[in-house]
Amino acid sequence: MTGSSSLDCSSSLDCSSSLDCSSSLDYGVIVVGAGVGGIYQIKRLTDMGIDATVLEAGGDLGGTWYFNRYPGARFDSESYTYGYSFSKALLDEWHWKEAFSGQPENLRYLNYVADKFSLRQYMQFNCRITAMRFDEDNNTWRLVIDDGRTLTCRFVVMTVGLLSVPTMPLIEGVDSFKGPSFHTFHWPHEGVDLTGKRVGIIGTGATSIQVIGEIADKVGELYVFQRRPNWVAPLNNRIITGEEMADIRSRYDEIFATCARTPGGFEHEPDRRGFWEVSREERLALWDRLYEEPGFGIWLQNFREIFMDEKANAEFSEYIADRIRRRVNEPVVAEKLIPKDHGFGVQRVPLETHYLEAYNRDNVHLVDISETPLERITPTGIQTAGGHHDLDIIVYATGFDAITGAYDQIDIRGADGRSLREDWRDGPATFLGVLIHGYPNLLMPTGPQSGSASTNFPRGIESGVNWCTELLQYLWAGHYVRAEATLAAQERWTAHVKKMYSIMLMRKAKGWFTGYNSNVKGHEEGNIRYVVYNGGSPKYMATIKEVAENGYEGLILNREGESSEGMTRPSDYAELASRQAV
Ligand code: NAP
Repeated sequence: MTGSSSLDCSSSLDCSSSLDCSSSLDYGVIVVGAGVGGIYQIKRLTDMGIDATVLEAGGDLGGTWYFNRYPGARFDSESYTYGYSFSKALLDEWHWKEAFSGQPENLRYLNYVADKFSLRQYMQFNCRITAMRFDEDNNTWRLVIDDGRTLTCRFVVMTVGLLSVPTMPLIEGVDSFKGPSFHTFHWPHEGVDLTGKRVGIIGTGATSIQVIGEIADKVGELYVFQRRPNWVAPLNNRIITGEEMADIRSRYDEIFATCARTPGGFEHEPDRRGFWEVSREERLALWDRLYEEPGFGIWLQNFREIFMDEKANAEFSEYIADRIRRRVNEPVVAEKLIPKDHGFGVQRVPLETHYLEAYNRDNVHLVDISETPLERITPTGIQTAGGHHDLDIIVYATGFDAITGAYDQIDIRGADGRSLREDWRDGPATFLGVLIHGYPNLLMPTGPQSGSASTNFPRGIESGVNWCTELLQYLWAGHYVRAEATLAAQERWTAHVKKMYSIMLMRKAKGWFTGYNSNVKGHEEGNIRYVVYNGGSPKYMATIKEVAENGYEGLILNREGESSEGMTRPSDYAELASRQAV
């Protein structure tokens, strides 16, 4: 497919523009990934009349909601705060049936959006990008696709997802198992009959916690291989009636305004009282109430000190530990389910339905692999130091090479052939999480260190896509062909991101917010990576707005044929850093 065949640009394009599709380029813009971000990005681009396409590795659109089809997969955001906010017609039409909607419905929603706005025509599936190289002579990108094609474009927008590269444990014998086995991300689309089966599941993160709660009463025997427990809290899902949906529709403006005001991009606003200023009885009363309420209230409507103050966090963690003890019948099992190496909420909190109660069932067995480590996968099951477990099915709920993994998978070469994989070996460095010095014309609406990773994802996605779209409009109007963050701007942002970590207890957690993954080289314990922005959504939004209002301060913009003055070649980087006031 070429630019001219996918879009008639003659009607709305100013053909002298930098995104001119009549040039020799295949596209003005290529969007990578057709998930929540890619769908909205292509809508914005094609509304502007830009010749653009979306390249998606999967067989269809939906990203996270296309792939993750495991039992129990559902939102942890309130459904009506997860949906797109950009179209009143869409908001008026869609009925969210559950407060926390499940995967099949979420995928239906994304397809509905794509169909409503006729976006599918701009999408190409089953095409995985293996390499990308910036052509400095022409200020364009060349993308190599695994189907043998090479495509060129002026700008690339990466909407590749934060959790889109699943990781498997690095243990012997994974390929030797004779029965069905799969990572939760690759749960078979045709479904899996679990009835009466002996199922082993490795990992006890948010994904596993959803799976276990859903399948415990459907399988024969369930063996849960737990290395470290996670703090959990009840999801408290419920049906949304027609009447309630009508009320939600009437309040959408207010709902999205609240999300924009809160640090996490949710409806949940932190309790503004000081933790130590109220009595313990008052704290308990708040926690008792929040524990029964839906969603992340227990985490985000709590006292702000639980995120920063060890003592406050320890008191609240003990409260949750007691809740676990009250719900799990067997005290030894309950103690194993209580995290001892980190406090509540220093990682994204898994929300559960029937998870803890699953351990009260005779057919569910907790295997503590911190005591008896996994040794290998065998043709018939899992061998631990404590013995062999015979299994019919093995489920790997072992997490993701989060946030930077999708970038590392592509051999991305920027100015002068520099490698992003190499540049980010010890962790990402970006400007606003949106641009990277040395990689001109590459935009990341929800990149590492952007405001979306630690919030209600779609709220951050919409903001990021809007910002990138406005930047492209600005470049287009100004006939710019090259845009790049300065090194100084990038260093300043990355230092700010690090500083925000230093005030949060999260910096001590071993999880994807600190770039930890025992199955990825360089991401093991002790090597903290500053991958998310912790300053909260309002602060992030204010910052990126200010950058735009100041004429994209921190970026160097060039027009066609402009002298190399201001151009950032690798040899100039140090000099540029010293002379540019950003
Ligand atoms: P995760 O939180 O990274 O959990 C992975 C689990 O696998 C951990 O328990 C980990 O143990 C274990 N594990 C990994 N490698 C192992 C190995 N080699 N041997 C033994 N155990 C191993 O991944 P996830 O559960 O997929 O969740 C990731 C994120 O996805 C969540 O934080 C959340 O943001 C998102 N998510 C959201 C929802 C939702 O409700 N919407 C649902 C699912 C996921 P250790 O802790 O010891 O490393």
